[in-house]
Amino acid sequence: MRVMEPKRFELPPGRAEEGFQDKKPLYTPAEAVAEANRCLYCSEAPCIQACPTAINIPEFIRKIGTGNTQGAARTILSANILGQSCAQVCPVEVLCAGSCVYTGWGREPINIGRLQRFAVEATLARKPNLFQAKPPTGKRIALVGSGPASIAAAGLLALEGHTCIIHERKAIPGGLNSLGIAPYKLKGPEALRELEWILSLGRIELRTGVEVVEQAQGPGQVSASELLASHDAVFLGLGLGADSRLGIPGEEGEGVQGATHLIERIKTEAGLKLQGVQRALVIGGGNTALDIAHELALLGVEVGMVYRRSEKEMGGYVHELEGARLDGVRLVENRQPVEILREGGKVVAVKLAATRDGKPVPGTEEQVPAELVVMAIGQERATGVARAFPGVELDARGRVKVEPATHRTGNAKVWSGGDCVNGGKEVVNAAAEAKIAVRDMQRHLAGE
Ligand SMILES: Cc1cc2nc3c(=O)[nH]c(=O)nc-3n(C[C@H](O)[C@H](O)[C@H](O)COP(=O)(O)OP(=O)(O)OC[C@H]3O[C@@H](n4cnc5c(N)ncnc54)[C@H](O)[C@@H]3O)c2cc1C
Ligand code: SF4
Repeated sequence: MRVMEPKRFELPPGRAEEGFQDKKPLYTPAEAVAEANRCLYCSEAPCIQACPTAINIPEFIRKIGTGNTQGAARTILSANILGQSCAQVCPVEVLCAGSCVYTGWGREPINIGRLQRFAVEATLARKPNLFQAKPPTGKRIALVGSGPASIAAAGLLALEGHTCIIHERKAIPGGLNSLGIAPYKLKGPEALRELEWILSLGRIELRTGVEVVEQAQGPGQVSASELLASHDAVFLGLGLGADSRLGIPGEEGEGVQGATHLIERIKTEAGLKLQGVQRALVIGGGNTALDIAHELALLGVEVGMVYRRSEKEMGGYVHELEGARLDGVRLVENRQPVEILREGGKVVAVKLAATRDGKPVPGTEEQVPAELVVMAIGQERATGVARAFPGVELDARGRVKVEPATHRTGNAKVWSGGDCVNGGKEVVNAAAEAKIAVRDMQRHLAGE
């Protein structure tokens, strides 16, 4: 077990993600001011209403326009403590920018994400004392997981003067923000830099390589009952689990990988080589499928994305599909893999069947050559451990049940938020849910 104090986290050099170009690079000060000056500072601004954390967007844009970059960053981070990563990863096209009045007029919306990135990145680089934590309260909060939900919650709790102890089972902290986001949006070191800033806000201890389990059986594990007994409150930010499998013949073995597993390798592994892979088939139609297909295409692989229904039924965002297509991804609609074919153990092709209503139609199979198959059909749940906290319940889909207005679970000392509660949304939703939970925890800790 390693206890990490606020310090620089390192990823090895030579990672594949380093070669990806930033799709929305940092504005220069002149570009930021010019873009800010296009904003109409609408009253009852629709962009604010579309932001799950309700950042006062016209206010921060006005501050950028008048040269008050630090004030802009304070406006952003007061509403969303993950304002740095959200600026880069939020699907603004369907949130704030999608609701901008310019969009309604068929004109280019204000580039809110890029302005937000400019304000926060420029400010945090100067390491200013933006927020002052309250004096220590003596209360101890345990957080399970170190993804955006727990990190946002820990930052807000630390500012209230509470001591936070984060338990993360992986060696690299940050959850999907460090390990899952497409590198052309946010690279691992950028996510870790934000995490370090949050750790610096107060009394936060991050323990990596520690899994919270029902019954601890040795070092590297801590039991749920122990956490409950030794802390005043617990926050569960468990995220989702391993990539789901299809269960078709040929799926087990080299050449078939889960999407989030492969993305994590692209983001963290030094010298990753996709040896002998010229053609890949990505199975799925959601945003994770689009991300890995796009990333493989940018790594020079010929990528087909196989979806069992039609393009208009895809769960992935239209703007992400457009971007992936521009970089060479081909969509194969209304097809489903029924077998993975191997020669000498190596994947050589996939048998695809045509589908009707998302189901394979017998007798329609054709072979499509590929050396790599990536499963992006969803993720299992990692919420089993939640049941080890008495009173915490899961719903029929394995999500942690919470009271929506407070994010408190069935146990009066346990709160939860992020993907393990909402089933898998965005970083900004994890930040927003952490905010709701902390507001209620604060009332509980203050004895109200
Ligand atoms: C491939 C991919 C791309 C994405 N791209 C975007 C994007 O571009 N924009 C966007 O806004 N969102 C994106 N998302 C979604 C976003 O990453 C998630 O919504 C967000 O990370 C959820 O945060 P979380 O803290 O709930 O969970 P996670 O980020 O999954 O973090 C959970 C953490 O808990 C740890 N953990 C779990 N169980 C235990 C345990 N028992 N003990 C100790 N530690 C434990 C895990 O190891 C993990 O580190 C993407 C998701 C994926 C899969
Ligand atoms: S809707 Fe667009 S123009 Fe209006 S305040 Fe928001 S960003 Fe500015």
